[in-house]
Amino acid sequence: MLRTRFCVANWKMNFNCTDTKSFLESWNNKELNNKEVKTIFCPSFTELNTGVEILQYSDSEIGAQNVFYESSGAYTGEVSCSMLKNIGCQWVIIGHSERRSIFSETDEMVRNKLDQLISERMNPIVCIGETKTQRENGKTQEILSQQLSIAFENQEDVNLKNTIIAYEPVWAIGTGITATVEMVSDAHKSIRNIFNNNGFNGSNISILYGGSVTDGNATELSELTDVDGFLVGGASLDVDKFYAIYNQL
Ligand code: PEP
Repeated sequence: MLRTRFCVANWKMNFNCTDTKSFLESWNNKELNNKEVKTIFCPSFTELNTGVEILQYSDSEIGAQNVFYESSGAYTGEVSCSMLKNIGCQWVIIGHSERRSIFSETDEMVRNKLDQLISERMNPIVCIGETKTQRENGKTQEILSQQLSIAFENQEDVNLKNTIIAYEPVWAIGTGITATVEMVSDAHKSIRNIFNNNGFNGSNISILYGGSVTDGNATELSELTDVDGFLVGGASLDVDKFYAIYNQL
């Protein structure tokens, strides 16, 4: 099966409405000739509407950086799936390492978010990855397996048509240190095997790499068979750099 390839921008807590407008207007002037690759921009909640509006005639789409796992109620400060869907936002990043480390999100919370997204027919971008210490202690596979088996424990293969995995080694995020092609290749293969061993068809799932991807290292990473695209943080804040990454996929 031909897996969909993605180039996803995680803008984190950067860009106000003015910045979003100016970035996406210049994005709209670019030729998106790489038809095999879907581009998704993930701004903060306050910029989602602006993003959806500017991209209404584009092949690019908008995603959120987080969502809550209940549908409504007394959850001050949270945003639900239906609120996102109502403004035309279908994609959501969950389990990002910054959410896990700064906001104490657990694998069980990631599972609840995944369950909610899938039951609301939305498209999850599930981030997983090991810390530096876990890698140094030879625990990478074990951690990936634990994160995936908890997150996907209530799911079946048929539900995963529009689910993306982003392998993001924590030590490579925002550090300028990229995982080597061997590390990325091994991790992506392991992720497919973990899915296969848990009753899913791992070869159907798009697996993105994230962690200091730039226009300087995208080509060698994108050539790996098991890499189906990128989740890009820092380099996605510059429209020309992000466009150059997209063109290398
Ligand atoms: C990220 O935040 O998902 C990420 C990959 O960031 P960066 O590209 O800056 O390492």
